[in-house]
Amino acid sequence: MTTLWLMEDQLSIDLVRKHRPDRVLLIESKKHFTSWPFHKHRIAFQISSIRHFVDELIADGIEVHHYPLNRRPYLDALGAITHLVKKCKDPDLMVIDPSEHHCAQWIKTLPEKLGIKITIESNTLFLTDRDEFAAWARPLKKPIMEHFYRRMRTKLGVLMESDGSPVGGQWNLDKENRKPPKRGMTFSPPISIKPDSITLDVLKDVEKAFPTHPGSTNGFFLPVTRSDAEKAWNDFVKNRLPQFGDFEDAMLVGQPILNHSFVSMLLNVGLLNPMNMVRDVEAAYHAGRVPLNSAEGFIRQIIGWREYVYGIYWSFMPEYRDRNALNAKLDLPEWFWTGETQMHCLSQCIQGVVDRAYSHHIQRLMIICNFANMASLSPQAVNDWFYAMYADSLDWVVTPNVIGMGMHADNATMATKPYISSAAYIHRMSDYCKGCKFDPGERLGDSACPFNYLFWTYLNDFADRLQKNPRMTMMLKNAQKIDAKEMGQMMDQRKRFIDLHIRKKVTPS
Ligand SMILES: Cc1cc2nc3c(=O)[nH]c(=O)nc-3n(C[C@H](O)[C@H](O)[C@H](O)COP(=O)(O)OP(=O)(O)OC[C@H]3O[C@@H](n4cnc5c(N)ncnc54)[C@H](O)[C@@H]3O)c2cc1C
Ligand code: SF4
Repeated sequence: MTTLWLMEDQLSIDLVRKHRPDRVLLIESKKHFTSWPFHKHRIAFQISSIRHFVDELIADGIEVHHYPLNRRPYLDALGAITHLVKKCKDPDLMVIDPSEHHCAQWIKTLPEKLGIKITIESNTLFLTDRDEFAAWARPLKKPIMEHFYRRMRTKLGVLMESDGSPVGGQWNLDKENRKPPKRGMTFSPPISIKPDSITLDVLKDVEKAFPTHPGSTNGFFLPVTRSDAEKAWNDFVKNRLPQFGDFEDAMLVGQPILNHSFVSMLLNVGLLNPMNMVRDVEAAYHAGRVPLNSAEGFIRQIIGWREYVYGIYWSFMPEYRDRNALNAKLDLPEWFWTGETQMHCLSQCIQGVVDRAYSHHIQRLMIICNFANMASLSPQAVNDWFYAMYADSLDWVVTPNVIGMGMHADNATMATKPYISSAAYIHRMSDYCKGCKFDPGERLGDSACPFNYLFWTYLNDFADRLQKNPRMTMMLKNAQKIDAKEMGQMMDQRKRFIDLHIRKKVTPS
């Protein structure tokens, strides 16, 4: 008899069909959910998805051992497994290799602790083999995403011509994905799922069991079943994917999702299958329903960036998480947990995360991390915040995105240059500056935008390190044109800003 123990991010019917276990074990570990100040939306999403998955398996005739959150005394995974071991004559377990490093390490300790055998199967929810990726990435100083992406396109035969060239003649249409938003643009919102009785119970359980966690369960509308996840996915392909490419980097007040798919959390827990999504997008392109810049842009996110960060994580953990190449040490200001700052771009993005545990990629990278990096916040503190606050967070995806891409703290393993900008970029790509107390055109004085003096002083501080990269030449030359007196004044202004708004942990005024 085989018992397949699935983690909360392995809710995939494909895994059950592949391994054909006699029974499936699912655990809602209170200890796990309280191990971190996870946003209530995230906890509710994962628990409700587990409970609906249990029903799906039972309806398929599969025996399920389910340990719900509030079933005492099995408050953690160890307690639940110990109970199962006592109850069953054949307690040996099969586990799908966990996606998170700490979990994988912990599982390895269980056979000795519990006197059982655990078979670990490879994790086929990803398209990349960890060992194969590590064999490619580790010997390289900089394992570049674009190189990996082209290999994936070729290996999987996605958007490829029969002669081995990319469809449309170009591998990457990133330059066509950066249009600024237009006034009066409208977007088709994602479908909203009304919580059923199972989800309503979960929302109550979460409010009761995790009262001090950030956010609330109000306004919960995420899909939690495979069929609703597929509905949400199909809605995106039909209504938002055609425009996804053009406005991928745009940001607008009161528009948290724009043309983004809003499916990362569904994909990350196993409710959607990445390869099926890629084939759907490819088919929509070939049917003429979606332009190439949208199809290629989206596919690049899935078989490129998503798989790449997974590979980087598994190639360089556990030391990767502690990297701090720029020696940034400041703790997060309290307003990171509320969004109460007068920097309008940051308040829009963080408030959105507090409300719905989501913000889109450019908000994460070019607003929140851009600020955190230039303000010298500790990469580990920022990583902890992202892990806590997002419905789609898992260590394998948060850590490379924050430590590598967002904070440039990984010795440039992932990104050859830091993703930083002054207010000019934010002003061009969003309408945030219009409603802000600060002036995006000023770099000194009371109304100067903090992104400006943080940007120029960052370039000044790290000039030696950054000048090795030819892509930084223009920015560094512009920084060098600023006379020493003005640079000194910006440094003074940065110091005052950090003392007042970050170190003292007060809301900027
Ligand atoms: C600082 C930072 C933190 C992030 N934290 C997370 C996280 O906790 N969980 C998470 O899934 N993604 C994370 N990302 C990646 C990306 O921002 C999100 O996947 C995306 O914003 C999710 O929204 P969406 O589904 O609407 O994505 P879309 O913009 O519609 O993109 C489609 C899909 O591509 C994938 N994708 C795109 N970029 C990345 C990337 N850099 N890494 C991994 N997958 C990618 C996601 O699965 C996403 O759903 C982070 C990025 C940054 C810069
Ligand atoms: S002026 Fe500066 S702080 Fe205000 S929204 Fe624009 S970039 Fe953000």
